[in-house]
Amino acid sequence: MTNNVAKTAPTALVDKFGRTVDYVRLSVTDRCDFRCVYCMAEEMTFLPKADILNLEEIELIATAFANLGVKHIRLTGGEPLVRHNILSLIQNIGKLESLKELTITTNGSQLEKLALPLFDAGVERINISLDSLQEQRFKNITRTGNLHQVLKGIDAAIDAGFKRIKINAVILKGRNDDEIIDLVNFVRDKKIDIAFIEEMPLGLIDEHNRKITFFSSDEIKALINQHYPLTTSTATSSGPSNYYQMNDSDSRIGFISPHSHNFCHLCNRVRVTVEGRLLLCLGNEHSVDLKSVIRNNPDNIELLQQTIIDAMDLKPERHHFSLDDEPQIVRFMNTTGG
Ligand code: SAM
Ligand code: SF4
Repeated sequence: MTNNVAKTAPTALVDKFGRTVDYVRLSVTDRCDFRCVYCMAEEMTFLPKADILNLEEIELIATAFANLGVKHIRLTGGEPLVRHNILSLIQNIGKLESLKELTITTNGSQLEKLALPLFDAGVERINISLDSLQEQRFKNITRTGNLHQVLKGIDAAIDAGFKRIKINAVILKGRNDDEIIDLVNFVRDKKIDIAFIEEMPLGLIDEHNRKITFFSSDEIKALINQHYPLTTSTATSSGPSNYYQMNDSDSRIGFISPHSHNFCHLCNRVRVTVEGRLLLCLGNEHSVDLKSVIRNNPDNIELLQQTIIDAMDLKPERHHFSLDDEPQIVRFMNTTGG
């Protein structure tokens, strides 16, 4: 595209609470080869093709954000690696000069073949979701996933040489909370990191009751502490994890605790759905339609950038996730871009 070389001077994106936004999560698809119980319904209707951004449009949005001073873009979904021609998009975003980091969150199913090309395209860090090391349980949680395929993908990522690899694990009481130490031992063995995530109430699910399956970061931390004393790590990622270190391993343990430890005051991020909706907060519906700006004004990256700057005023102060009410946010995580 010719218009995306028209760079403006980097303008920091700052919201009305003084938070600088320098991190964007771009969802490149709402589709996925898995149907994780906390993320999707078993029968999902995916978006029609005409409604989703094409790869050039996604690249234009990435360029606009980079021009506006965004330093870190994470590609997510749905499963980003099932999007047709995703590597070409990644290669192009990887070439954006002002971007410091391009990262990706994946379920690992395609990594056996794609880990090395991703690394070559400039992806430095990768997050891989893994909630269980037991085959049948993994299948029950993901509904369609194959544990061995994912484990091979994790090994391929380790061999490819990424700077850091992090496992993301959502812990659900009664389903996989007895595997917390096994997962810690797994990352210690592989010399990679792990983040434990509290389940968020996104989308209505009937498969389990989120109030009953909720397992807090503090409970997880206390359990790990009995086996491996944890000390606060100075490591930061650009995300909301609090990191801890064990005294005999380089693996870091992070906790993402949207319920128990609100991190909104530190929020430095926005999301763009694959429909081109700029979401100002994971837990609120405030959004701006970037797709119609692009489609009504092709070749006008300045207008797109101005729309993004103006949208910062809509960023709400905090989310209000609650386990007591019906989910306020009716979109599932796969359409949000996790
Ligand atoms: N398909 C990729 C994957 O699974 O890693 C990327 C998208 S997925 C939506 C991103 C992350 O969101 C995953 O680590 C997943 O476990 C997490 N996730 C999905 N639904 C969630 C929910 N309701 N609460 C907390 N985390 C969730
Ligand atoms: Fe797919 Fe990721 Fe959602 Fe699981 S968490 S269904 S792998 S998008």
